[in-house]
Amino acid sequence: MSAAVKKDAHPFNKQNLEALLNSRFFYAPAFEIYGGVAGLYDYGPPGSSLQANIINEWRKHYIIEEGMLEVDTTILTPAPVFETSGHVARFADWMVKDKVNGEVLRADHLVEGVLEARLKGDKEAHGILADAAAAPEGEKKKKKKNVKSTAVKLEDSLVQEYESVLAQIDNYTGPQLGELIRKYNIVSPDTGNEVDEPVQFNLMFDSSIGPTGKQKGYLRPETAQGHFLNFSRLLQFNNGRLPFASAQIGRSFRNEISPRAGLLRVREFTMAEIEHYVDPLDKKHARFDEIQDIKLMLLPKDVQSAGRTDLLEISVGDAVSKGIIDNETLGYFLGRTYLFLVKIGINPHRLRFRQHMANEMAHYAADCWDAEIETSYGWIECVGCADRSAYDLTVHSKRTGQALVAQVTLPEPIVEEKVVFELNKKNFGKTFAKETEQVKNAITALDQDGLLKLQGDLKNGSAIINAEGKDYTLTPELLTIEWKTFKSHTREFTPNVIEPSFGIGRILYSVLEHSFWAREEDVARGVLSLPPNVAPTKCLIVPLSSNESFVPLVRDVSAKLRKAGVFSRVDDSNASIGKRYSRNDELGTPFGVTLDFASVQNGTMTLRERDTTDQRIGKIDDVIAVVQDLVQGTIDWPQACERLPAYDGVQAVAE
Ligand code: AMP
Repeated sequence: MSAAVKKDAHPFNKQNLEALLNSRFFYAPAFEIYGGVAGLYDYGPPGSSLQANIINEWRKHYIIEEGMLEVDTTILTPAPVFETSGHVARFADWMVKDKVNGEVLRADHLVEGVLEARLKGDKEAHGILADAAAAPEGEKKKKKKNVKSTAVKLEDSLVQEYESVLAQIDNYTGPQLGELIRKYNIVSPDTGNEVDEPVQFNLMFDSSIGPTGKQKGYLRPETAQGHFLNFSRLLQFNNGRLPFASAQIGRSFRNEISPRAGLLRVREFTMAEIEHYVDPLDKKHARFDEIQDIKLMLLPKDVQSAGRTDLLEISVGDAVSKGIIDNETLGYFLGRTYLFLVKIGINPHRLRFRQHMANEMAHYAADCWDAEIETSYGWIECVGCADRSAYDLTVHSKRTGQALVAQVTLPEPIVEEKVVFELNKKNFGKTFAKETEQVKNAITALDQDGLLKLQGDLKNGSAIINAEGKDYTLTPELLTIEWKTFKSHTREFTPNVIEPSFGIGRILYSVLEHSFWAREEDVARGVLSLPPNVAPTKCLIVPLSSNESFVPLVRDVSAKLRKAGVFSRVDDSNASIGKRYSRNDELGTPFGVTLDFASVQNGTMTLRERDTTDQRIGKIDDVIAVVQDLVQGTIDWPQACERLPAYDGVQAVAE
């Protein structure tokens, strides 16, 4: 086997990755020949396959493994739904306008970007000063000049202030961002112009439904509401039992203020969302023991509020028992999210879970953690995991008058003694005539203490009740008030919802960055080490040449791979075999088989592994069986090497 693969021989090069993604059409700006629209991208063949494979892994990991109930609800949504959910009033970001050219910037991103750039400048200034001090006399002048042109040294206290602001950047309100902009003299980095005070901008795209234009609607900014509105049907489908989860994969739309970071901030994107419904009195999870030992890197809210970003490495079990993560179910989903992300190619050392601080968390949420992945754009929120409490089901139930509740049978019935009233309807109606209803409502509104007082007063002859500002006299002929015994066998409640919400595009881009490296011997030979489960093509078939004699064999091997469920492609171009393999390294194709004259004569073929470029040889059927196991993940490459001997020929495989 060849020497260990050195993936870090060259530093990560974003331009090279971008050039690769563009030239191999992973994705590209949509409507490009019309000049493009910011925040809209089309996926090409490898990008579409990669996305489909990530979604497929997600479906296996969650929907199939956990028996979730899948739904597919509409994107177009009538306005009352988002009025009720709070999106019309609150689904907004703060933006600022350039005072001269009117260009719009997102306020928190402006502050973040400018302060980060100043800190970077400060670091460079320190580096340059240190270099200048160490440099030989003649060179010092030149280096010092650089200090002025490229880097600015900051006061130490300012460095600390900036770092503290950045640690809490997601926690500021619009007016607070305005104060920071003034305090630190922040101007538009594009133009150097001052900016206005932050104002709120709602991110939903609005629309109207039907030809009259009277029914206002929105494109959904998340898939969640579609789950909640179907809650009763889903509960029924699940035989009335909790806990259960619904899952949905679909498009969402957000009119982002100034989308700039490629796939990371777009205006139309695919989300995969889970809504897990639990009894608010029991947020334990039956499979918690399976993930409790997983160690996560956590960034808790109190650390951020203190202006720091140091991580706490802790097992999910310990984090829940210490109350750092609010409950088992939330902890369970953080652990499962970790497993999913690592399985599809995210580097676990560049994955952290950041807790929301008080201001950034929705007012109804009990606890919220984002899975953040480190990329060349910094730490990016890729999965939001929130305990939304009973908020959504409660507000939709109130607005529609439909009960969105669950019931559990109690092991022991609850026996309760309660004071209740009963009206003598005939006398009551005669006495209060048109005001009957309002007097009745006033009595109904009394709590147990109020009823007991009324009972005491009636025993003494009469009682006074105030209804809508007017006093009415009650006598024992009008109603009776007594203690009664109640027995209930069920408990009814509004379920709480725990929601892991995945942005597929952000995850896809992060997987690409984490998989990208260049061969030690040639920085221009980029490789995408995508895991076989998500790689767009699993196996490349490379005939030695386009010679006629290979045609039937290629067809035969293709058919066999297809039958084995392995997605393969043939590259029978005239390029050298090495070149063809390199091109497929760029596409992340993990395995390649070569057909040469020995294949025609002896029925053998070679198998190449992308990262190591190792080559093995075996009978065609044996090689296919190994590839099938590799792709299914039942064996790894060292195990494959135990089944197939090394190939030491040079004929077909020189690279
Ligand atoms: P949120 O509902 O804001 O917590 O978003 C849930 C997930 O959707 C995030 O974790 C991201 O992965 C993804 N997401 C949100 N906004 C965007 C966007 N503009 N572009 C791409 N992905 C996004």
